[in-house]
Amino acid sequence: MDTKVIRMDEQHIDPAALREAGDIIKAGGLVAFPTETVYGLGGDALNPESSRKIYAAKGRPSDNPLIVHIADMAALKAIVKEIPESAERLAEAFWPGPLTMILMKSDLVPCETTGGLDTVAVRMPVHKVAREFIRAAGGYVAAPSANRSGRPSPTEAKYVAEDMDGRIEMIIDGGDVEIGLESTIVDLTVPQPMILRPGHITKEMLEDVLTCVEEDCTMMRDDSGQAPKAPGMKYRHYAPKGDLTIVAGTEDVVASYINEQLAEQRLIGKKTGVIGTDRTIGCYHADVCKSAGNREDEGTIARELYRILREFDDESVEVIYSEAFDTSGIGQAIMNRLLKAAGHKVVNVQ
Ligand code: AMP
Ligand code: MG
Repeated sequence: MDTKVIRMDEQHIDPAALREAGDIIKAGGLVAFPTETVYGLGGDALNPESSRKIYAAKGRPSDNPLIVHIADMAALKAIVKEIPESAERLAEAFWPGPLTMILMKSDLVPCETTGGLDTVAVRMPVHKVAREFIRAAGGYVAAPSANRSGRPSPTEAKYVAEDMDGRIEMIIDGGDVEIGLESTIVDLTVPQPMILRPGHITKEMLEDVLTCVEEDCTMMRDDSGQAPKAPGMKYRHYAPKGDLTIVAGTEDVVASYINEQLAEQRLIGKKTGVIGTDRTIGCYHADVCKSAGNREDEGTIARELYRILREFDDESVEVIYSEAFDTSGIGQAIMNRLLKAAGHKVVNVQ
């Protein structure tokens, strides 16, 4: 199949191109599109055949449910059993935006879309191209991240093309995404609302609206002996081909530990890499050194992380050391993704 790429950003909406993209979805095809978090791989959420195609294009296990994207509140009612008050309040505060809510599904949503669950994940993105595309597609677009399973989520259309060229009908290129990490997921089907995946909308922000929000204990640890509550979180996503270790501790000690390890690895002929920050990156002696951004503005790090992981793959780096990041605010989402990429391999140095 030929994959058509069209360019469209929030300032230049092209109604004819949107109609073409929408028609592909209505006919059961797949279109990748930009959102504020990462690029999504869209199909008709109400068509079981489309969901099957999404799993096949991604190479994703079919027990890993998809997020249904909507463009307005009016669309929510038909796909859920009920809208709890907590969902109304969160929607009021954070929709459109990078928050996904888990609700009880209605019969309209096929089991293929929800990985066999009786709950459905719903999000209303704020990205204008995404919303206009969802409307053109009939109002319900199932969309996981537009990467092949096991690769980092795409933050630019060229990474979507790397993974999806020839597998889907169309890619809408909307330029670089704004946030760079997937949405926060909150489960509202349990007695106490629970965060299943951290993201740009933090626990503190949710608690401003709902008072008390719990967290899935597997988000930052892998030794709880429990399975994550979001089925997708059990897979080791985002793993770079190189062997990644996170090093935590004070800045100087981390830098000298990493440099010692790099020297050893280079002696045995390994191609080495480091993920540091703007302030520290100059102190490392690796084959490939990449700054993830600025610790004072962790949004920069969220935006860069997946691109950096892909670049290490492209440059065939074999051993990678990364500094650790603060786990407050968006830092929790950054560390959650980095921990998964590293298979929870962390060295604490003092
Ligand atoms: P992605 O679309 O790649 O961001 O992945 C979607 C994430 O949402 C995965 O981690 C899924 O396991 C999670 N998810 C989707 N639907 C549900 C649901 N009904 N219950 C719990 N987690 C869900
Ligand atoms: Mg994904």
